[in-house]
Amino acid sequence: MIEYENLGKLNKPFFEEYETAFKETLESGWYILGKKVKAFENEFASYCGTKHCIGLANGLDALILSLKAFNFEKGSEVIVPSNTYIATILSIVHNGLVPVLAEPDLATYNIDPAEIEKKISSKTVAIMVVHLYGKVCEMDKIMSIAQKHKLKVIEDCAQAHGATFKKTKAGNFGDVNAFSFYPTKNLGAIADAGAVTTNDRELAESISTLRNYGSKEKYYNETVGYNSRLDEVQAAFLSVKLKYLDDINSHKQKLAKLYLQHLKEDFIKPMVDKDYSDVYHIFNIRHEKRDELKAYLLNNEIRTDIHYPVAPNKQVAMRGILKDQETPIAEKIHKTTLSLPISFFHTEEDILKVIEVMNKF
Ligand SMILES: *Cc1c(COP(=O)(O)O)cnc(C)c1O
Repeated sequence: MIEYENLGKLNKPFFEEYETAFKETLESGWYILGKKVKAFENEFASYCGTKHCIGLANGLDALILSLKAFNFEKGSEVIVPSNTYIATILSIVHNGLVPVLAEPDLATYNIDPAEIEKKISSKTVAIMVVHLYGKVCEMDKIMSIAQKHKLKVIEDCAQAHGATFKKTKAGNFGDVNAFSFYPTKNLGAIADAGAVTTNDRELAESISTLRNYGSKEKYYNETVGYNSRLDEVQAAFLSVKLKYLDDINSHKQKLAKLYLQHLKEDFIKPMVDKDYSDVYHIFNIRHEKRDELKAYLLNNEIRTDIHYPVAPNKQVAMRGILKDQETPIAEKIHKTTLSLPISFFHTEEDILKVIEVMNKF
């Protein structure tokens, strides 16, 4: 059986270093907001090329607190891609703001800059972009639209650790940018974890205060805060894994190249372009007979996944929230997309086997 993902196998090469990191942290007797979190924040900011990084409890919180830091007036509109993972949209709703869906470009699966312009109204305050599957959005065009209309930009980088557009890494373009270190992400912890990156000192300070009960000094509360702290143990694991993030990304790029070169043209493959270095958090193809293909692969001992089976505007939770927002392009993607095995533990032989079986479909 070729699995889609196996977190034990994925993390196996790091077990020894994790054990040392765990022992050190355990013996230090300091488990919340200490040296390990500070060290990881510095390392990750330096990896991304940003001035600040603030470690948080998970990716959804990173998105929620990013928006919170701006104190937008309730009811303001935030533009978001119609085919994103639900978390991006939830962060808008949890802030009392209104998600306005903009359709993706079918070539990149990322928000189409032309569609953003169409959705701007007098109530728009921000654009949340999502670097879906590990490909950065067209950030040059998007930032100039934002500047022209005086909108804030928040990047959802949960799938794009280390991905670049025109040589700049994800997490550097927007005002505040959110990362998830959920175990399956390219930089994954072994529990929930997240962070934001920013070059703005004031925003960094507000998010760092918000994550810790709105308090800078213990027991003195300045704002109505949260508890959303990255813990010392996960920070220690993340510092270990960060050293190997480029290796993880290159391995996935090597596997992606095999798919791109050898899968027959019946499958719609991801777009490749010199302006982008993609990190393939997900390697998806599209096919009209997606469900049949998925079942055929499973019959042949190959597990796949779907990101995502239901478009946000068709989710039960979004009834009454995303009403009347038609998103035919997102729905087309959700109906036809299939994610192929591309984990750090997969070998070239595994991928060649998947290709061989797929090409007989
Ligand atoms: C994983 C993911 C998130 C949420 O991260 P969590 O750490 O699970 O809260 C948000 N947005 C996108 C695009 C994701 O893939």
